Amino acid sequence: MQYDAIVVGAGPAGSTAAREIASRGKSVLLLDRAKFPRDKPCGGGVTIRCADLLPFSIEPVVEHVVTGAVMGGPKGPNVIRNAGKTLTYMTQRRHLDAFLVERAQEAGVEFRDGSPVRAITEQNDGTFEVTVGRTTEGAETHTSRVLIGADGANGVVGTFLGFEHVAEGAVALEGNIATPNGTPAWLNGRVALNLGLMPGGYGWVFPKGDHVNVGVGGWKGVAGEHLRTTLDSYTRSVGWDPAQLTNVRGHHLPMQRPGQEVTVRGVALIGDAAGFVDPLSGEGIYGAIASGVAVAPAAVDYLDCRVPDMRGYRLAVQRELLPDIVASRGLMEVFHAWPTPAVLLATHSGRLWRQFCDLLTGDESYASIVRSTGPFAPTLGPLASVARRLTVARYGAR
Ligand SMILES: Cc1cc2nc3c(=O)[nH]c(=O)nc-3n(C[C@H](O)[C@H](O)[C@H](O)COP(=O)(O)OP(=O)(O)OC[C@H]3O[C@@H](n4cnc5c(N)ncnc54)[C@H](O)[C@@H]3O)c2cc1C
Repeated sequence: MQYDAIVVGAGPAGSTAAREIASRGKSVLLLDRAKFPRDKPCGGGVTIRCADLLPFSIEPVVEHVVTGAVMGGPKGPNVIRNAGKTLTYMTQRRHLDAFLVERAQEAGVEFRDGSPVRAITEQNDGTFEVTVGRTTEGAETHTSRVLIGADGANGVVGTFLGFEHVAEGAVALEGNIATPNGTPAWLNGRVALNLGLMPGGYGWVFPKGDHVNVGVGGWKGVAGEHLRTTLDSYTRSVGWDPAQLTNVRGHHLPMQRPGQEVTVRGVALIGDAAGFVDPLSGEGIYGAIASGVAVAPAAVDYLDCRVPDMRGYRLAVQRELLPDIVASRGLMEVFHAWPTPAVLLATHSGRLWRQFCDLLTGDESYASIVRSTGPFAPTLGPLASVARRLTVARYGAR
């Protein structure tokens, strides 16, 4: 079959791009290798800045509304903070992703789950041939002028078309603990964060409808082999027996390298496939949905032959996503180079808490927070370079 656009991967990035392109009158095929609803290792936290990118409410899949946090560090006591406004919605990915796919189907997207993409070739006229199927015998081929890779880090689209692989910056491990008596009072309306629990990351407890999600993450080269023991000790420290953890799963969080290409001719990478995970917080659903929104106008301009390629998407990324990723990476480097004072500041500064809340609601960006430091703003880049050298010397390969 022939389509205007084929989107590979039906996570938040793929379903958003597919919906946005179809709603502009184009035929779109959305493919995922998994049978839906499918789960994905993820805390399922959707910040308000992220939910606001969508033209509909995600309320049907929200299991808990977060307005505050219990924050501490590996050494310090916990501090309870309340924002007085909604910061984040807690969802489960199997429900959220299926919900987003349904909205795409309503916009006219043809969705096929259980459809792994096996091969991609680019024809001389610039169209793509996408081969789908578990075996060669049952394989089908579809063609399109626009191809979008929303298939996660090291996905097939980037691999077949020769994009440089996204760096796997961090890894995280998470599991669930049933709460048959409801969310414990101390966690009601709050998340628990243990900042700097692992080098390059943190520990979290997220309340959901009938369980809590407990997770830990950090730099792949340092935290990787300690993930399970840290998850167990962290679970114990927040009052549960790690033996109660179910569905324990890990995954990496791919991070953009500066200057990494995201589009060539009629193909573009979005979401984790392009490494749009926030380096400081590990939030990836925002980057997934934001890049899915950003790619659609460029794809339609290309399909309507108004432009020779999808460089409009590259420009949108440079304008709307990269400044924040760069600022977040700088703050992440500084935070983890000097974790003890950084945790103390993050947990006790009222100003930082307010800025953190405004970041989650989209009233501030990392870039605007850095700018608000006035004469110190230009020092973040050089300071981050020193911080990076320090942590590489301290931990070796990160
Ligand atoms: C433990 C952990 C906790 C996290 N917690 C949070 C959080 O609370 N909040 C947050 O914002 N972010 C969180 N993240 C990050 C977030 O999960 C990702 O950034 C986000 O899922 C990226 O969305 P995506 O659509 O780009 O990719 P994905 O959601 O990974 O979707 C990619 C899709 O592509 C499909 N696919 C892959 N290959 C093929 C193929 N060959 N053919 C067809 N389909 C294919 C896969 O089946 C999958 O459905 C967390 C990450 C981890 C690891």
